[in-house]
Amino acid sequence: MSAAISVRNLFRYFGTLKAVDGVSFDIPHGSVCGFVGANGAGKTTTMRMLATLDYPTLGSAEVCGINVVNHPDKVRALIGWMPDQFGNYEHMTVLDYLDFYARALGYTGSERRSRIEEVMAFADLVPLADRLSNKLSKGMTQRLCLGRALLHDPQVLIMDEPAAGLDPRARVELKHLIRILAEEGKTIFISSHILSELGEMCDSLLFINAGRIVHHGDADSLKLGSDAGGGVYYDVQVDGPPESVSDWAVLSSDVEIMETRKRGARIRIPTNESARAADVLGRMVREGLRVTEFHREERNLEDAFIDILGQIEEGAPGLTPPPHPGTAAPTGPTTLGSVTDDPIPPDESPPPVT
Ligand code: ATP
Repeated sequence: MSAAISVRNLFRYFGTLKAVDGVSFDIPHGSVCGFVGANGAGKTTTMRMLATLDYPTLGSAEVCGINVVNHPDKVRALIGWMPDQFGNYEHMTVLDYLDFYARALGYTGSERRSRIEEVMAFADLVPLADRLSNKLSKGMTQRLCLGRALLHDPQVLIMDEPAAGLDPRARVELKHLIRILAEEGKTIFISSHILSELGEMCDSLLFINAGRIVHHGDADSLKLGSDAGGGVYYDVQVDGPPESVSDWAVLSSDVEIMETRKRGARIRIPTNESARAADVLGRMVREGLRVTEFHREERNLEDAFIDILGQIEEGAPGLTPPPHPGTAAPTGPTTLGSVTDDPIPPDESPPPVT
């Protein structure tokens, strides 16, 4: 059985900018995959192509085995799309809004009513039925956007930063809804900057950097393994100015500051030998830091992400995909004719786009 989402050597160039630069991945049916990357890494561009809203410059993308370029209508019937920017209309209530989209999707009569009722109940929109859709809070707006995306009961949900701008309570509510959808067996592809949340709800995490996939794995193995330096993390708290920990660490070649904190800092010591930790603690105290806490912490997803980016900068083998020799960013207009169903072998240059 084909994957729910299958992407092979996907490229999207804007002029000379390689927004998506030879991306390949599969997301199995019924799984939740988090899409992680810095601002401008290429997440939205990749998702928009999957949602049939943009054409690849080159490469192929399929949803449930159906090519997004060749059969966009079939793909649209299979996917629910939640964009990061959501347009709604003035003078339209929540109910009118969903009714409008249900009609546009071709639902009529009692079927239309029952689809609307079902999504309103699911996304907790019933109390908001008569509210103007452009006067909702961010959390309510996201629930309306989710309701709209679910009207046709899609198998695959593509959600671009759905938690952005939500307060903690609205984030918890959204996470709860996503969990229910996952339990129902939907495939969910979700981008977010909040790595800790993604780790909790995703079966796998896909990291993208500068248009290229740099890691695809599950959250637990990411947290545990592949720490390039085999480092260990400590929370250090002091009685005194919290910045004194960072000031001290800057002068210590074997201590790295991961984050400054209210009472000190989170540091990394590059080996897991306890003797080294004892040595660092001893030096801190001897050199005047009044340490009140020094305890080991788990490696988290942010650490893993920062490590992966660091390894790329250092040119670690296996992390940076091989360059495509002779690849020049196409400068001409994107054409549908350049899109192929056939994967291009990774070591082959994409043909020039005319
Ligand atoms: P963010 O987290 O900030 O939303 P992202 O990972 O979703 O970032 P994209 O929106 O995919 O990143 O953008 C990837 C790159 O492509 C960026 O450099 C962006 O400026 C550029 N880009 C995106 N859309 C266009 C466009 N229509 N024309 C030109 N450049 C674009």
